[in-house]
Amino acid sequence: MGKRWFSLIAAGLLAVGTLLPAAPAMAAPTFKLPFPCGQSWSGQTRTDHSPAYAVDFNRTDDLGDPVVASAPGTVDRVTDLGGTSYGKYVRIDHGGGYTTYYAHLNGFNVSVGQSVGYGKVIGWVGSTGGSSGPHLHYEQRLNGADIQVRFNGSLALYWGTKSYTSDNNCSSTTGSGTVNTSGTALTVRSGPGTGYDAVGTVADGTRVTIYCQTSGTSVTGTYGTSSIWDRIGTGRYIADAYVYTGSDGYIPNVPRC
Ligand SMILES: [Zn+2]
Repeated sequence: MGKRWFSLIAAGLLAVGTLLPAAPAMAAPTFKLPFPCGQSWSGQTRTDHSPAYAVDFNRTDDLGDPVVASAPGTVDRVTDLGGTSYGKYVRIDHGGGYTTYYAHLNGFNVSVGQSVGYGKVIGWVGSTGGSSGPHLHYEQRLNGADIQVRFNGSLALYWGTKSYTSDNNCSSTTGSGTVNTSGTALTVRSGPGTGYDAVGTVADGTRVTIYCQTSGTSVTGTYGTSSIWDRIGTGRYIADAYVYTGSDGYIPNVPRC
C-alpha cells in the first residue's frame, strides 16, 4: 500500500513537471569591457584559440594594467594554476548560468565570495600560465560552455582583431584628492612631469578633481615616492605623491590619461 501511494505521488509530480513550462532563461548580463572606463584595447579572436570564443586583449605597455569586472557578480574562483593554462585567473559568477574568466593575471585584487560591481579592479594584466607575453585572456560562458563574447549586447569581432573602448563604470570616471604639502603651494605642470612648464599652483589643503592619471617623472612627496601624475584640468597635472586620494597607487575606476 505504501509503495502504491508513493508511485501515485511520483506519477503526479512527473505530470505536473511535464505540464509546467520550462523556466525562462535569464537575460544575459550587460557585459562591459574588462578594463576601466575610457581605455582602448585591441581584442583578438582566432579560430585556433582555446576555447574558441575567448578574446585576448592587449595595449602598449599593458603589463600590470588593472583588469576590472565586466559585470556585477560574485567571485567564485581565484586560482593559480602555476606555469600552465590560465596561470593566475579569476572567475566571476553573474547568475543565470553566466560566468566570466580573466586569465594570465599578474596578481589578484579580490577573494572568493566577494561581491563585485562594474569596474571593480579584480587583478592586473600579466603573463602567467601558458602565456608567451602580457595580455588578458577573457571569456564569457553560459552553463560552463564558452559563448561568443558580447559587450553591451554587441557581438565581438569573429574572427580578427579590433579596437574596443571601455564604457565600464563610466559614471564614476573622476576621482578626488586633497593636496597635502605641509604648507607650500604645489606646482601645477602642463604635463605629467617636472620637466613640463609650471602653469600655476594649488594651495596646501585644496580639494582637487582628478580626471585621469598617468605615469611621469618620479616625485618624492608627502605620501612617498611615486611616478603617478594626476590630471586636474586641461593641461594641468600635479604629482600624486602630494595628493591624498585614499588609494595607494592608481585610483580604481579613474582612467589612465
Ligand atoms: Zn587567450
